[in-house]
Amino acid sequence: EAKAEGRGTFRLFEPQMDETVRERLHLERELREALQADRFELHYQPLVDLSDNRITGMEALVRWRHPERGLVSPALFIPLAEETGLIVPLGEWVLRQACRDAAGWPDGISVAVNVSPIQLRHRGFAQSVLAALATSGLVATRLELEITESVLLDDTEANLETLHTLRKLGVRISMDDFGTGYSSISYLRRFPFDKIKIDRSFVRDCAAQSEAGAIIRAIVSLGASLGITTLVEGVETEPQLATVRAEGAQEVQGYLFSPPRPAAEIAALLEAGTCPGGDGDRTMAA
Ligand code: C2E
Ligand code: MG
Ligand code: MG
Ligand code: MG
Repeated sequence: EAKAEGRGTFRLFEPQMDETVRERLHLERELREALQADRFELHYQPLVDLSDNRITGMEALVRWRHPERGLVSPALFIPLAEETGLIVPLGEWVLRQACRDAAGWPDGISVAVNVSPIQLRHRGFAQSVLAALATSGLVATRLELEITESVLLDDTEANLETLHTLRKLGVRISMDDFGTGYSSISYLRRFPFDKIKIDRSFVRDCAAQSEAGAIIRAIVSLGASLGITTLVEGVETEPQLATVRAEGAQEVQGYLFSPPRPAAEIAALLEAGTCPGGDGDRTMAA
């Protein structure tokens, strides 16, 4: 009891405070400092068109260059950034940096940026996208925003309006991780997505289980009837690629072609005009 310790004693934390809470607070402070000190970097992973094995674009994937921990995965800090609201300035940095990098790539190569629901909901999001495009000189049609279906769960009207505004300007909208939420299909009627990214859990299972392959085929045909491009995430092996191809998907992304690589390596790869992976070099569009 704080009272038993006498007047003026104010204990913020119990001594036995959960170690995970302590760790969280520490991580939050570090995250703030990292933003100030510019310790984030973008890696890029190619998106490949299956009809001609060309690179159509790159997905920007953020990493935290931590002084002691090394390169920290977004899976470890994006959730905390979302809970603390730090995702808003971090997301703006990602947008600006991704547009700046992409402006230096060949004209045929677009850039895909992940957008958190919290970021999208934030007032001024559309404005920050426009600012990133204007500052970098990147044409709007070379920017894709990846959102998850959770974006459409709440605040629906405001979110839809923001997405419509951006889409009218030429920015393309992709639904990420499709198939992991529930009632996904109904969302396809509520917003005109340009691309569906089928979650990698389907390709992981598709070689062994024909059900997963059948689901990919169903989504591809649904996409085709709605005029939406379908991409399959997480293609790691040639047999998986063969299945995905047979099911009719238009685009793929995965370790088979390339893992996410630092921006400098991506620029060199685009300059060389090839994307190593699979059974040979994949040439790029330019
Ligand atoms: P995501 O948007 O679905 O991105 C794809 C993830 O799958 C990336 O993980 C990528 O490295 C990984 N991946 C790609 N190909 C393969 C493969 O063949 N096999 C396997 N096992 N994995 C593959 P990463 O970079 O760790 O990012 C994880 C998630 O963090 C992303 O999932 C995205 O939801 C989030 N994220 C990353 N960058 C950002 C960002 O700038 N903003 C926001 N809001 N979220 C981000
Ligand atoms: Mg994504
Ligand atoms: Mg994804
Ligand atoms: Mg995913």
